[in-house]
Amino acid sequence: MAHATSARTYGNYIGGEWRPAATGETFDDRNPANRAEVIATFAASGADEAEAAITAAAEAAAGWRRTSPIARANILYKASNILEARVGDVGRDLTREEGKTLKEGIGETGRAVQILRYFAGEAQQPTGEHYPSASITTLLYTMDEPLGVVGIITPWNFPIAIPAWKIAPALAFGNTVVLKPASQSPLSAFHFVEALIEAGLPAGVLNVVTGGGAAVGTRLVEDERVVGISFTGSSQVGAGLRQIAAARGAKIQLELGGKNPAIVLADADIDQALQHIVNGAMMSSGQKCTATSRAIVERSLSERFTDLLSSKIASLRVGDPLGSDTQIGPLIDDEAADRVAAEVKSAKDDGSDLLVGGGRLTDNGRGDGAFVAPALFAGVDPDSRLGQEELFGPVLGVIPVDSVDEAIAVANRVRYGLSASLFTRDLGKALHFVQGIQAGIVHVNSETAGAEPQVPFGGMKGSSSYSREQGKAARDFYTQIKTVYIDPPAS
Ligand code: NAD
Repeated sequence: MAHATSARTYGNYIGGEWRPAATGETFDDRNPANRAEVIATFAASGADEAEAAITAAAEAAAGWRRTSPIARANILYKASNILEARVGDVGRDLTREEGKTLKEGIGETGRAVQILRYFAGEAQQPTGEHYPSASITTLLYTMDEPLGVVGIITPWNFPIAIPAWKIAPALAFGNTVVLKPASQSPLSAFHFVEALIEAGLPAGVLNVVTGGGAAVGTRLVEDERVVGISFTGSSQVGAGLRQIAAARGAKIQLELGGKNPAIVLADADIDQALQHIVNGAMMSSGQKCTATSRAIVERSLSERFTDLLSSKIASLRVGDPLGSDTQIGPLIDDEAADRVAAEVKSAKDDGSDLLVGGGRLTDNGRGDGAFVAPALFAGVDPDSRLGQEELFGPVLGVIPVDSVDEAIAVANRVRYGLSASLFTRDLGKALHFVQGIQAGIVHVNSETAGAEPQVPFGGMKGSSSYSREQGKAARDFYTQIKTVYIDPPAS
């Protein structure tokens, strides 16, 4: 099987076989830094292929749930070693299809290796609980059982890490899977899946179908045989899927958008705050659900801090993400770049104070890709569109405030609650922030982005569905509890 660089055509992976779409139609996975370059070609599938994959997953479910957790763990562990041996090539492909820098592409692939190892370990942990009973002779305990078939729908921005952090626990805990990766960057997920196939995953346990969200993704959520659905993506699509799942009583987990604040108090280590906020806002061109999009700065510091942000952001090197000195790559496609540039223009036209960036970059070969100059706005109205909506691009707004309490109130006054940061040297204020902030992931003196696989990940309010991914929390979603009473025979 080819890895990395050659432009290959991938079918769907269903029941242990590679199959093209029934119509024979395909779509191209293009390099967002150079849209003329086709990285790979994939099957443009529809509901029929989704159904075939669900059937394969349903047929494999009984065998996989009866496979020892130790045997499942061994497959995940072996896959982690296979993927690790390819981390450079796979990371490079990730960069070529998604546009984040090579360092980030390799880093994300390494994360997928780590996730496989973590869940190989989790599969071997003790499970269930033993309880006292009102009857002294009753053996009373719980078991964590797999759900059965799980549908997984993933976005383009973490094309290997998100499939990994959903697929690894789903498999570790005994479920079979149908994955629908995002059409802008499916290749990374296929590299992940290939590692599992080569590690010996039985046919039908993991199936992959590519194609349009509405055609393939919706079918996964509608089908009665799919017991659980894990979705990461936009709030708009997530809201629609939640309704479909609710109507038939399926278990669903949603990880959605963010409008993540970083608060900077006057006593902060300025260089530290500056570095973490610029990284949090601009790495991956701001296309992380946990990206920093609001810098909420104590007024006595805000002018100076805004000047520092402005010069640092203006000096970022935007270009080919494979380039060794590139700091910021393109957005995912022209549509995204045009949308972000239009949002910046409209905020400016509405009177917001744009200090740097925001336009499409077309010089130095960048006209072949979806490049946008990292943008900074000063004096942002927290209730404006710029202060409220996820733009999903390299755009940061500074909001001046008079106190830590006002900062927390402003930070909370959005419909999202994914991640948040505070920069201060004051332990009391840090604890006050941790108590008061409405966010699922809270940082003090580090950036809003960044999550380790051994801890729960997810948001509050409109960012999530009150469930968590990764860490021990992953077991809650991918299993269900069976309570067992065993009594001795009466005679
Ligand atoms: P998206 O909602 O457009 O697509 C996500 C996935 O859903 C894709 O696979 C897509 O094909 C599929 N899809 C689209 N329409 C569908 C439909 N009608 N039915 C079923 N499936 C459908 O999101 P995106 O543009 O790929 O990703 C960006 C968004 O994801 C941002 O809002 C970002 O904040 C969010 N995100 C959240 C997290 C998190 O963990 N909270 C992580 C990464 C990205």
